[in-house]
Amino acid sequence: MYMSFPYLIDFDLKKLPVHKTDVLVIGGGVAGLTAAVTVADKLSVQVLTKGSIKQTSTWYAQGGIAAPLAADDSPELHFKDTIAAGAGLCDPEAVKVLVGEAAAAVSMLLDLGTGFDKRDGSLRLGREGGHTVSRVVHAGDATGSAVMASLAGTVRDHNNIRLTENVFVLDLLKQDERCRGALVFDGATGSVNAYVAQAVVLAAGGMGQIYEGTTNPPAATGDGLAMAYRRGVKLAGLEFVQFHPTALATDENPRFLISEAVRGEGAYLVNEKGVRFMVGRHPLAELAPRDIVSQAVVKEMRASRSDHVYLDARHLPPEMLPTRFPAIWAHCLAVGFNLSTDLVPVTPAAHYLIGGVVVDLYGRSSLAGLYAGGEVASTGVHGANRLASNSLLEGLVFSRRIGALLLKTIEPGGALEIDLGLVQETGRPKGKSLAYVREKLQKTMTAKVGVIRTAEGLREAAEYLADRRYLQGYRYGKAADWEVVNMLALAELIVAGALSRRQSLGVHMVAG
Ligand SMILES: Cc1cc2nc3c(=O)[nH]c(=O)nc-3n(C[C@H](O)[C@H](O)[C@H](O)COP(=O)(O)OP(=O)(O)OC[C@H]3O[C@@H](n4cnc5c(N)ncnc54)[C@H](O)[C@@H]3O)c2cc1C
Repeated sequence: MYMSFPYLIDFDLKKLPVHKTDVLVIGGGVAGLTAAVTVADKLSVQVLTKGSIKQTSTWYAQGGIAAPLAADDSPELHFKDTIAAGAGLCDPEAVKVLVGEAAAAVSMLLDLGTGFDKRDGSLRLGREGGHTVSRVVHAGDATGSAVMASLAGTVRDHNNIRLTENVFVLDLLKQDERCRGALVFDGATGSVNAYVAQAVVLAAGGMGQIYEGTTNPPAATGDGLAMAYRRGVKLAGLEFVQFHPTALATDENPRFLISEAVRGEGAYLVNEKGVRFMVGRHPLAELAPRDIVSQAVVKEMRASRSDHVYLDARHLPPEMLPTRFPAIWAHCLAVGFNLSTDLVPVTPAAHYLIGGVVVDLYGRSSLAGLYAGGEVASTGVHGANRLASNSLLEGLVFSRRIGALLLKTIEPGGALEIDLGLVQETGRPKGKSLAYVREKLQKTMTAKVGVIRTAEGLREAAEYLADRRYLQGYRYGKAADWEVVNMLALAELIVAGALSRRQSLGVHMVAG
């Protein structure tokens, strides 16, 4: 589309410490750790993460994991609901894989000791938007941290896996049309290291932080997508940014999510006049797919010139809320709202990137040696709108498939080829701190590329970004600035995708 960016830093490979591993995993959320545990009995694995494992979207996940386990459910029904939510853009083969392998993925987590909620020995299943039956496996309202506790425990106990937290992966190393590893900055020592591997699994998550209001952790700055783009890897569907309709309307970053499961238990959405505005808009009312609810919320906010609508759970049994949703209950109370007695202000927030690195059913990207899993990947299962609780599932199912393929195709200690003559010397001048750009970028993306877009707003965003493209031509020395470089590049790709899709579809709504 526009210039292919050089590496983020200048380097001379033969001067860098080189670490070798069979499989390099970039990212320590559900997708990265699942790939790691799947291959580790045979292959050596190095997992790299930017923050601690608690600073992942996976850790934040509340509602749960969709799987067709109930007596009144089936993979066919889960398939139908996923396809219906996806607004005609899902890849049916990928969805078939997702729902067909869901039960096995949940079993794997049970085997690893994940403490899902049970009643009389059977898994309790919750209901969420767009699902026609109850099928969401959960651990209270903190499913993500329960999943991470079991996956990370397994990773830490495994002799074949090395987990390195608090390092910043700058770029993928590519030679002879193959991904060979990655360049990694260690802030503690200020050093750059090269990691060389037979296979690289990109599992670096999403990009919610390019918006002003997001449910995503601070680490979600789209680094994985930007580094893939810089190496010419095929990306698609970036205009499909899912906004969650019910983030708590406060100034927190990230915004605290009030899970769809609360509406699943019967909570209403009401406007300033106290009217339930989803009734009559969709047969599932408050449990309509997320794109429809978010768009309706924004319309109500505009009509009442307010920055929020309300979640109304006052009619629900008061003893149920703190026990079924302890984390949400506690957080709301801490910021001054009692779910049982107060209307709680909520607003849409950037939540999930549907598009990403294009992969096949085994996570293979367009670059040999590079696999992608989880939110950074575009498997095709979400179409133009992701069904609630299908993304933890996607991370599990497709990373297990990546692992299964690597077990078949890679030998432990196999050849690790890289020409140490790889050098990048651009002589770029040193750039100033980009902290101010980060904030302006977030505001621009929210105002112009949000839930409801206009052609004019998108063009203004494109202009703003094109005017700042020159910032990518400077040399920076710290993670916060490299993140902004990545965010600017990715924002430009999102806006270009949105401009090229003129019709509204799923989460991409163009007004006028
Ligand atoms: C508040 C919230 C609630 C959610 N609830 C649900 C739910 O109930 N059910 C559901 O299915 N989905 C839910 N989702 C979505 C789901 O949690 C995510 O899509 C999923 O966890 C993504 O997993 P991942 O492994 O791809 O990425 P993440 O879990 O975000 O992990 C990304 C990893 O990449 C690392 N990384 C990124 N950049 C770099 C870099 N430059 N160098 C080194 N490492 C890097 C990060 O440090 C991190 O370890 C929720 C999301 C949020 C934010």
